[in-house]
Amino acid sequence: DILAPRKNSTGLNLNNRDECDALVAGMQRWQTHQWHARPQVQVSSLTTYQPDVVVRCPFSARDKVGLVQWVHPDDAYAILQTAEHAFKKWNNEPRPAFAALRQTWLYTLADVLEEHRHELITLCVREAGKTLQDAVDEIREAVDFCRYYAGFIDNGFAEPIRLPGPTGELNQLHYEGRGIWLCISPWNFPLAIFIGQITAAIAAGNAVIAKPAEATSLIAARAVELAYSAGIPQELLQCVPGSGPILGDVFCNDRRLAGVAFTGSHKTAHKIAMDLAHRRGPIASFIAETGGQNAMIVDSTALPEQVVKDIIRSAFGSAGQRCSALRVLYLQEDIAEEVIRLLQGAMKELVVGNPGDPATDIGPVISMQAKNALHAHSRYLKSHGKLIAKVEDVPEEGFYVAPAAYEIESISELEDEHFGPILHVIRYRNADLDTVIEDINNTDFGLTLSVHSRNPEVSGLIARSARVGNVYINRDQIGAVVGVQPFGGLARSGTGPKAGGPDYVRRFACERTVSINT
Ligand code: GLU
Repeated sequence: DILAPRKNSTGLNLNNRDECDALVAGMQRWQTHQWHARPQVQVSSLTTYQPDVVVRCPFSARDKVGLVQWVHPDDAYAILQTAEHAFKKWNNEPRPAFAALRQTWLYTLADVLEEHRHELITLCVREAGKTLQDAVDEIREAVDFCRYYAGFIDNGFAEPIRLPGPTGELNQLHYEGRGIWLCISPWNFPLAIFIGQITAAIAAGNAVIAKPAEATSLIAARAVELAYSAGIPQELLQCVPGSGPILGDVFCNDRRLAGVAFTGSHKTAHKIAMDLAHRRGPIASFIAETGGQNAMIVDSTALPEQVVKDIIRSAFGSAGQRCSALRVLYLQEDIAEEVIRLLQGAMKELVVGNPGDPATDIGPVISMQAKNALHAHSRYLKSHGKLIAKVEDVPEEGFYVAPAAYEIESISELEDEHFGPILHVIRYRNADLDTVIEDINNTDFGLTLSVHSRNPEVSGLIARSARVGNVYINRDQIGAVVGVQPFGGLARSGTGPKAGGPDYVRRFACERTVSINT
């Protein structure tokens, strides 16, 4: 049975006044707190002192969230050596005992994360600019990953799986750690994806070196402290805040690395794959989850009100900073005017502002660089497309980008994904549906797709012919739930396996067959 028992964390309902008030009150003491992230490594001494980097809040430069001390690349060798020794040591432990311990660590970590929910939610708001709802969902997803992956340790890691064979022969399949995994996580899910990668690697019995995104090292460092308090030994989980290109280069070129789990841009994924391919020694495993040029196809049988609700959430929720976010909306010509009119109305209602305020729908983007890139793209769309709607009331201070929708001619105008609250709209004729699907497939991305149609033949056809990892029918296309919608794409969007899916933990593992002539 490949399905582990599923028990998802409950999260919070912020529409319930009491729950929302309790959350805001619980966060109070963390609103002025300053965190300090140091390298969490087990080496006798760091060779080179690195000055602290100041972390400021994306919506208020005056709000100093904390300090991060980066790791110098000269220390990578010693960090890898610790991981190598730790892996050898733990991998020699009796399997059932080590497996049981790992399971206890992960279940305990889930509880510890829930206990520290108020601090972690505040950190997600202040360091990453997440809205309250997104921050609540983030903690819940991190907790879900811990419990879900812990469940898979029962599948062949403690006791081998017995295989059929001739009389007098015992055939067994064992799962065990591969060695050292480098986990490189993104800033858009600074806790959930960070924890997801690490817990899967630990579940499979590996030693981990975690490299969090530069923009969200404080959340990561705090999560690692909590992982230690849950029992995970430091030698098995080291955390190296620092420059992605510099540290990535040193680690990925080292032959001791057994694998890399990466979530981020497809360009970086290519670079890592090249480094791993060129290094000498063992062939490394690589798990990449990258972006998407995600489309929604709406035909004339769809329910316009439902469609607009799902567009708003998919395109503008989390300020469009999800790999899964809707980027290109295809409207069948008979329904296009009505959907556009309703969309214009719905966008007028959007509240863009301080993400810590429960009334806010959309917070800032992550950085000045991101804001500038999105503004440049908007300027391009203003001259090459047609503005449909734009939210007017956006704060001056902070990295805010006004959510906007532009009509364009073809998806081929968009070379890359634009990671923010900008929606592209294309009208199509029924007769051109095949071309629409072909155009989407030709982007080479393949992450999410949603279809709005009350004709199951149409939605079935699209779901089958679009080459994407996650298809959503008559609903929004973000917020995949662990164990419910295993998440991840194909082609330029990633290598699989899916996070929160039944194959994920095993891809971090090594399989060993033992045949005994009895
Ligand atoms: N799993 C998330 C979702 O379904 C997206 C993850 C990502 O952006 O990397 O929305």
